[in-house]
Amino acid sequence: MTMATQNLTALDVGLAWRNSFAQLGKSFYTPLAPWPLPAPYWVGRSTSTARELGLNESWLDSPELLQVLTGNQPMAGTQPLASVYSGHQFGQWAGQLGDGRAILLGETGGLEVQLKGSGLTPYSRMGDGRAVLRSSIREFLCSEAMQGLGIATSRALCVVGSDAPIRRETVETAAVVTRVAPSFIRFGHFEHFSHHGQHAQLKVLADYVIDRFYPACRASDKFAGNPYAALLEAVSERTAALVAQWQAVGFCHGVLNTDNMSILGLTIDYGPFQFLDAFNPGHVCNHSDQEGRYAFDKQPNIAYWNLFCLGQALLPLIGEQELAIAALESYKTVFPAAFERRMFAKLGLIDASDSTATADRALLQDILQLLAKEQVDYTIFWRRLSHCNADTDAQTVRDLFVDRSAADACLLRYSERLEHIPRGLAADLMLKTNPKFVLRNYLGEQAIQAAKLKDFSQVETLLMLLESPFEEHPGFDKYADFPPDWAGGIEISCSS
Ligand code: AMP
Ligand code: MG
Repeated sequence: MTMATQNLTALDVGLAWRNSFAQLGKSFYTPLAPWPLPAPYWVGRSTSTARELGLNESWLDSPELLQVLTGNQPMAGTQPLASVYSGHQFGQWAGQLGDGRAILLGETGGLEVQLKGSGLTPYSRMGDGRAVLRSSIREFLCSEAMQGLGIATSRALCVVGSDAPIRRETVETAAVVTRVAPSFIRFGHFEHFSHHGQHAQLKVLADYVIDRFYPACRASDKFAGNPYAALLEAVSERTAALVAQWQAVGFCHGVLNTDNMSILGLTIDYGPFQFLDAFNPGHVCNHSDQEGRYAFDKQPNIAYWNLFCLGQALLPLIGEQELAIAALESYKTVFPAAFERRMFAKLGLIDASDSTATADRALLQDILQLLAKEQVDYTIFWRRLSHCNADTDAQTVRDLFVDRSAADACLLRYSERLEHIPRGLAADLMLKTNPKFVLRNYLGEQAIQAAKLKDFSQVETLLMLLESPFEEHPGFDKYADFPPDWAGGIEISCSS
């Protein structure tokens, strides 16, 4: 499978490459080239990710870049490989998984670059190594949307499509997403070596992650002399902060298996994710998740469960179980504190403090309960509330509720709470915290349907809006409107 590109000249797109992951040793990966993709075409490109990579933007128009990002020609300086990992899927040990359809090209400017959907690897199991256009557009747009929201995420440079047929429930077409992150190492990488008793490799991996991303763990006071316990604590804290942001913005990941959990606390592996439309805390966005394990309101507990798996995997290095448990404890304080901070910012409570916390918590709970009871659109509610402080009266917010007296009672308490806060300051904070634009399923779906007909303008428009979701973007109000009735019927499964 590496033959296809062997005799072709490597193309230089002006990037300097290294691959520190490749230096970890042979048991971590299989070197192999991406498969060629016939007659590729651009579907979406992010100039902001290009800038992040140090890639001259003019390359984003070049046929050469199109060829190297689809495996049709090798990219000069890269050392492509697929890494091995394992993991727990839907609560069960799933054994060996790995990059079944992703190839790591290497690192440039301190960022790893992966091609997702780039062909079979030794870890493809029953899969075909490919990704379909539909899921690739979703991953591309959502990566950049999360970045726009200020939520830690892998980035996406581009999506490239091809008319090559790909069989899923129906026949679709192939695409490759070029995605970028400081590292794509997952909890599952640690679980892999731990499960197989490969403790030397486990240590190599942990030392690599600590030295590169968590150097402070070597100087931890709390876990003096035990950088691995400090690592577990640091990952727990980053994960807690990440999940707090998901909950605040109404993002449901959909497949929080341990192999989809980033060791850096990034949102990765976008599949059947969804931004909530109506506020339904128990919403399950993945139609393959029949038991609702990954429901929206279960995410904080699931992330903690996943951190336990990581703790278990690190135990041979940490040594004492009590230390691992102590390291995980931090999640229980960091998550609620981070979540509250986000939610109080959504309410514009610039003076939130210990003395206001009890009443603020009660107010927040009552608002969320009311939103859930009436299934109010989550994004629209918060944006309207922000505006009602900025320039309008509360009528636009009241209009969202059937039970006006319950809404009025909540709004009255809220406005009393804001009495000592200058409205302009509250509104400023709220308009920077409550996005106008999120990647609703139906918006993604419309862009996908147009892209299937080779009209990529919707992808471009959504990218533009989602890169700066807190701005008003006059003229684009329809993208911030309620979802149409058919949106409720969209079924998103693991199939991608
Ligand atoms: P996911 O839950 O989508 O992150 O995927 C779980 C595992 O299945 C990962 O190891 C993926 O690399 C692998 N996988 C998913 N889809 C495919 C595919 N079409 N071909 C090969 N491997 C796949
Ligand atoms: Mg995955």
